[in-house]
Amino acid sequence: MMYEMMTSNANNIKGIVFDIQKFSVNDGPGIRTTVFLKGCQMKCVWCHNPESLSTKPQLGFNQDKCIGCRSCERVCPNGVHRFDEQGKHSVAFEDCVACGLCVDVCMNDALKIYGISMSVDHVFAEIIKDKVYFDKSGGGVTLSGGEALKQFDFSLALAKKCKQHGIHVCIETNGASKTEYYEEIAPFVDLFLFDYKATGDQLHKTLTGMNRRLVDLNLKRLDDINAAVILRCPVIPGYNGSDEHFKAIAEVSKSMANIRKVELLPYHNLGKGKATEVGRDYTVNTTVPTDDQVNSWLAKLKRYGVVQVALG
Ligand code: SF4
Ligand code: SF4
Repeated sequence: MMYEMMTSNANNIKGIVFDIQKFSVNDGPGIRTTVFLKGCQMKCVWCHNPESLSTKPQLGFNQDKCIGCRSCERVCPNGVHRFDEQGKHSVAFEDCVACGLCVDVCMNDALKIYGISMSVDHVFAEIIKDKVYFDKSGGGVTLSGGEALKQFDFSLALAKKCKQHGIHVCIETNGASKTEYYEEIAPFVDLFLFDYKATGDQLHKTLTGMNRRLVDLNLKRLDDINAAVILRCPVIPGYNGSDEHFKAIAEVSKSMANIRKVELLPYHNLGKGKATEVGRDYTVNTTVPTDDQVNSWLAKLKRYGVVQVALG
């Protein structure tokens, strides 16, 4: 009776989810459903999902889709939508409370709210629909973000529920959550997709806003408790693509027994448009690497002794 009550409470825990992506093939093995949770402790300068950084629901505005009808201006109680004399539309994001009224009246899909509150049961109902694909492909569910462990209670309850139903669970993490969180959730996780973003404490802090110490501690702890890990390494030319960095990736991966593979994530610029949509600055000044560049990185890691290396 007590167990049933605890289970039912856990199923009612709510998380702020900004996307559920089905048939994903880049977030762990097989065909997966990836649940994107809002909130992240880091602020990586190249962030691919800037709409995930805030824990709260937030407004997105796509200027290219706006036809200037001004319906949003008429319904917004906070005066967030502003038009200058030339009719140019600007958005005072800081005054928005994400009530969604303007989204409802925008006929051109120029507005959207990133992040809705969903219960564990609600998200699981979406996940379980695809179990047949998971079973056939060796796939499952991936909790991502943002940082999945920023909403720890929700992620723990969802991971447990998936495991109870025989679903393979991956957690994509920046490595910067509390060590106890990794220890507590590990029994319900088949594979951690663990970021390795920059080498050297100062550079890590400059590029992500946090130093490496806790990340290194958590990676070591996962290894000590025999949790399976894929090391995921974003490579941003001109920021973290130094030889020293590739050497460090190789050394870390060789020093731990449970790192199954290194995956490189070459820079792409999809975060740029999304940053503008949610009113954030995007300062990265680099180019998308060529195939030759990417192949040279893969070859370099192999030369430094990484046996299992691939593109993520
Ligand atoms: S309602 Fe949509 S299309 Fe109309 S002005 Fe506002 S954002 Fe632009
Ligand atoms: S979501 Fe609500 S507060 Fe925010 S801009 Fe739209 S109507 Fe205004």
